[in-house]
Amino acid sequence: MPKTFLIDTSRCTACRGCQLACKEWHGLPANKTKQFGWGSHQNPQDLNPNNYKLVRFSEHLEDDVVRWNFFPDQCRHCEVAPCKETGDLYREGAIVQDEKTGAILYTDGTRKFSKEQFEEIRESCPYNIPRRNEKTGILSKCTMCNDRVHKGMLPSCVKVCPTGAMAFGERGEMLKLAEERLATVKKRFPNAMLADPDDVMVIYLLTDAPENYHSFAVAAAPQSTMDRKRFLAKLARPVTRMTEKA
Ligand code: SF4
Ligand code: SF4
Ligand code: SF4
Repeated sequence: MPKTFLIDTSRCTACRGCQLACKEWHGLPANKTKQFGWGSHQNPQDLNPNNYKLVRFSEHLEDDVVRWNFFPDQCRHCEVAPCKETGDLYREGAIVQDEKTGAILYTDGTRKFSKEQFEEIRESCPYNIPRRNEKTGILSKCTMCNDRVHKGMLPSCVKVCPTGAMAFGERGEMLKLAEERLATVKKRFPNAMLADPDDVMVIYLLTDAPENYHSFAVAAAPQSTMDRKRFLAKLARPVTRMTEKA
């Protein structure tokens, strides 16, 4: 039975506990941070091989009032993952899907992808998630804490969230919870919505338009169409690529 997250941004206070818990569980080193002052308290500025999770800060004016939106960004573990489809064209088995949890996992085999192949994998992701370690060549992103989940534990980020902004469990239960929370949140935020709930295993409840959170809060339809076309074009010429040794 696949697992699913619900990330309810109406409850997120941007404490960044999830971001740190993720680093701690995976033994990821610290990043040098910088105060950007007027722009954002977001740190670091983007996902990177040492940050599988990043709490994004976004502020904008709404009726002359500053509104802050917080978005704990991570891999969505797509039901049919474009990054895996692209990776399989070059090196089948480097990116895998766990049959039990549904997690999309990057193995050590991803170090065999060339830089150009990585760029294609990253571009095929509708949420701009995969990152590459320039020293080792390994591609990285959220693992769904698959090791913890297989032992019956919650993902590290979900476990530490102090406000209950994140929930994790069986997909049916999470979809039901998402609809219930949406109905509640809509009373205060009429434009509240669920981001791509049918396609991903990390469902965000947004209280505002997706573009007021982050450029990739939802999968952009034109980009997905372009990626699909690119994918189909590659399928027409797979023979040399599939046998290529990167
Ligand atoms: Fe990090 Fe695990 Fe949360 Fe993914 S599920 S963001 S790997 S703590
Ligand atoms: Fe792959 Fe991107 Fe989907 Fe994650 S969000 S499974 S990196 S395509
Ligand atoms: Fe938001 Fe919870 Fe993460 Fe804190 S731990 S930033 S409240 S999702």
